[in-house]
Parts: sequence; structure tokens; C-alpha cells
Amino acid sequence: MPALKTIKNIAVIGSGFAGLSAAAYLAKAGCSVEVFEKNEDIGGRARQLHTTNGYFFDMGPSWYWMPDVFEKFFNDFGYKPADFYDLRLLDPEYVIVFGKDDVMEVPASVPALFRLFEGIEKGSSDALKLFLKEAAFKYRVGMNKLVYKPGLSIREFADAELVKGLFRLQVFTSLSTHVRKYFKDPRLIALMEFPALFLGAMPEDTPALYSLMNHAGLKLGTWYPMGGFGKVVEAMKEVAERQGVKFYTEEPVTGFNIRQHKITAVQTAFRQKEFDGVIGAADYHHIEQQLLEPQYRNYSPGYWKGRVMAPSALIYYLGVKKKVKKLKHHNLFFDEDLKVHAQQIYKQPQWPTKPLFYVCCTSKTDSKVAPAGHENIFILMPLAVGLEDNEDTREKYFEMIMNRLEDYCGENISNHLDYKKSYCVSDFKSDYNSFGGNAYGLANTLRQTAILKPSIRNKQVKNLFYAGHLTVPGPGVPPAIISGNVAANQLLNYLHSL
Ligand SMILES: Cc1cc2nc3c(=O)[nH]c(=O)nc-3n(C[C@H](O)[C@H](O)[C@H](O)COP(=O)(O)OP(=O)(O)OC[C@H]3O[C@@H](n4cnc5c(N)ncnc54)[C@H](O)[C@@H]3O)c2cc1C
Repeated sequence: MPALKTIKNIAVIGSGFAGLSAAAYLAKAGCSVEVFEKNEDIGGRARQLHTTNGYFFDMGPSWYWMPDVFEKFFNDFGYKPADFYDLRLLDPEYVIVFGKDDVMEVPASVPALFRLFEGIEKGSSDALKLFLKEAAFKYRVGMNKLVYKPGLSIREFADAELVKGLFRLQVFTSLSTHVRKYFKDPRLIALMEFPALFLGAMPEDTPALYSLMNHAGLKLGTWYPMGGFGKVVEAMKEVAERQGVKFYTEEPVTGFNIRQHKITAVQTAFRQKEFDGVIGAADYHHIEQQLLEPQYRNYSPGYWKGRVMAPSALIYYLGVKKKVKKLKHHNLFFDEDLKVHAQQIYKQPQWPTKPLFYVCCTSKTDSKVAPAGHENIFILMPLAVGLEDNEDTREKYFEMIMNRLEDYCGENISNHLDYKKSYCVSDFKSDYNSFGGNAYGLANTLRQTAILKPSIRNKQVKNLFYAGHLTVPGPGVPPAIISGNVAANQLLNYLHSL
């Protein structure tokens, strides 16, 4: 893109991955960029929690998938991730606990993965080869032709390879049907369907196109940035600052001055300042429904009510004064019925009766996240959005999950805690202005994909574009980084057109 004729002043609302990415790209293109963040720390849902007794926790993301997206971001600015943080490949990538003595370790090496499959179901290693070949095709086409598109018009997708590959991309088949064509064993099905949970929807409601995530997980590897995801946040902030971006924390945006369908000034808690363009990288629903007057909104409250949101979560951050032998870095507890829990998230929203949960123990890989001889444990239970949460409910689930975890580990954990904090729906709402207390944004269902997602462009306000996990391409850290890039390009196109 050619340089802008004059320097334009841009405000970015929110400093999550989408805001950081948009800010860095806009500054590189010659804009003067200021980021306003309501919280004390940068990073949004990927903030870190530092305790006074030597633990630090990633508050949100813990799975570093799709390393190519991170590489692209840093390469675009002349760097590579290794200039800022040390990435480690996890092996096993993760374990799935189906029962106390029924645990599947998912290896990082593909030949070992084939052996694992064959040992569980005869002939399934050949099926896996075919499955992964198709998933690699979807990943390549998806990354090159789909996810970096703004999703403003169907014409963006009028591409020979896309049209030719439409059948193979399986947009209209569900991931659940697709997986069952290849595998019969329920454990293999669970392993192959699990990435749909990253996309915030049930495998039945997720297009098989997203088996590209199986390629991401099983072929590209599960990585860990030493020091945690917070290191990635720091690195992206550093890149943005080197481009000249300025950050203002504890300064929420509270509204806009709009004249002739353009934002002329942004109001924050402390000032009012003129800007030529705005990237709304806080939750889309909050910007639309709380910061804009009704006549400037793309969507009505009814539209938002009809969206399928990705789940919220009940989280525990735990410091443990001893080592817990049986835990690995990533542990998925699939020892109860996924269908029942999923129903209670999406179809009849309620507190789950027998929840599945996930335990992350970063201290297995990183000695700095906990005092010597201690463990740093993060437990996450997916939950329907919009539920009421209180201390009693959090405690009830803590006991339920701890009982299952201790039973699996064969040792007591709860008597050895020297740090414990819970986090739930009401915290997501108050900390991030999250719609319904969602953790991961908007679900990637067929009816909420590409041009069917909330538009990246405000149709009434010409210089306002949205970024983040409620617009294209969807939930997760890599999509948030891509979203910031795409929104920045859209705003630049607009500025060039003036
Ligand atoms: C518990 C959890 C686990 C996850 N695990 C993974 C994982 O393992 N791997 C993965 O890839 N993804 C994961 N995700 C998803 C991923 O973290 C998010 O999709 C991504 O970080 C969203 O980035 P974002 O920039 O869109 O939004 P956010 O990170 O929420 O950033 C938005 C920012 O806007 C700020 N803001 C809100 N209102 C205002 C206002 N009025 N003025 C100024 N600022 C405002 C908020 O404070 C926030 O900092 C997880 C998320 C959660 C919550």
C-alpha cells in the first residue's frame, strides 16, 4: 500500500491481541496511533496475574497453536518470534483423560501419532493420513484465501482455487459427520473433535472446514512461549512501540463525537481528543451497544440476542506447595459425557451437572512460573454465557473438580494450596465489557462464518472499523492477530480514499 499523504491520527480501543496487531500495522503505515485500554495491564484476555508469593499465571490463553500466524506478524515488522521469546514444542502435546486408568498421550511426532491411532483402532492410521491430508489442504486454502479477507462481500471469495475446492473445503458438512467417516473409536473421535471447542461451538454445528484446526494441532504442534502468553503480549507491545504507538492504560473509551457519519473525536474517562479514524478492538457488542448512539449501530439488541456466543468459563488459578506427579502441561478431562455438558452450554444454558474441564500446569515446562518445588495450576470449566455466578457456586464446583482431579492424580492437592483465585462470568463482564461474560467471543458456526459474522466495517460511521474475536475471522489468539491486521488494512483503504 502506498504511503499516506498526511499523517493521520488513529485511536485503537482495547489492547488485546487484535488491538495490538491493528495498532502496529497502522503505525507502520505512517499513522500516529494511540491505544486506550480500560484495564491496568495490556493484553486483554491474555493478561497475566502476578501473585505476591512467586506465581504468575496467564489469565486466558494457554494453547499456542498456528505458529505461522505469529511468525507472519513479527516478519511483517522485520522480526521473528525468537527475537522476543523462547518457544518450546510440547511433547506430549497434551493428554486426554477418559478415566483414571484410561489416558491418551498425544505425541508431538506424527509417526508416533500414527502408531497411537493404530494401537487404538485397526486401520485408523491410514484413515488419519487421509484425514490430515484433507485438513492440510483446508489449512492452506483457509490461510491463503479465507481468513485474511474482511468478509464484506461474497465477491471476495470468487477465486478459482476456492470455487474449484468448494466441495473439498466441506463448508456444509459438520465436523462431527466428517470425523465419523474416518474413525469409529469414541476416544479417537473425541481427540479429533476437541479442536472445535476452540472455535466455541459443538462439533455438530462446526463446519468440517475447521478440521484445518486438526492440521494446526496435530501437524504444526502445540507450543509454549517460556514465561507464558504474557511474553507474546509484551513482544507485540514492543513491536508496536517501535513503530511509534502510544499506550494509555486505565483509560476506558466512553463515547464518540460524530459528525457527518464520521468520528471526529474520541471521549475517554480523562479527555476528549480528535482522531481521523478508530479501530474498535474491545468486544464489538460493547462498542455498538454502549459507546454508539442507536442510529450509528450496525445491529439491534435483537440481533445480538440471536447470536451463538462461544462459552464463558469458570477458572481457578492455583498455587500448589508441592509437585503433582501425574499432571502434564495440558490435561483435558473428558471423563464425563461431552454431549451432556455441551447441551448445558449451548442448548439449555445452565450450570453443568457433570462438567468436563481442562487443567494447565505450566510449571511442568517453565520453572519460573512458580516457586521451586511448587506447581502453577490453571483449571478451566467451559460454561454457558449469561449465567449468574456467586462465591457459593464457585466453591461448589471447586470441590467437585478437585475431587475428580485428586482422584485422578492419586494425591491430595487442596490441602497444599498457597494461592487460590477464581474467575467467572461476572469477572469477564466487569473486566472486559464482555457480552454475556463470554470468554472466547462469537462461535464459529456455519451461520456465523465469513460474511455472516458481525461486519468489520461500521456501515453508518465511515471511519470506524472493528477488530477482535466477535468479528472475522473468529475466536482465538491467531484469529485476533489476523483480525487486527485486516481491520487496519480496511481503515487504511478508507484513509487512502479521502
Ligand atoms: C480463559 C481463556 C482461555 C483461552 N484460551 C485460548 C488458547 O489457549 N489459545 C487461543 O488461541 N485462544 C484462547 N483464548 C481466546 C483468546 O484469548 C481470545 O480470543 C483473544 O485473546 C481475544 O483478543 P481480542 O483482542 O479480540 O480481545 P481482548 O483480549 O478481550 O481485548 C479487548 C480489550 O479491550 C478492552 N476494553 C473493553 N472495553 C473498553 C473500553 N471501553 N475502552 C478501552 N478498552 C476497553 C478490554 O479491557 C480488553 O483489554 C482464551 C480465552 C480465554 C478467556
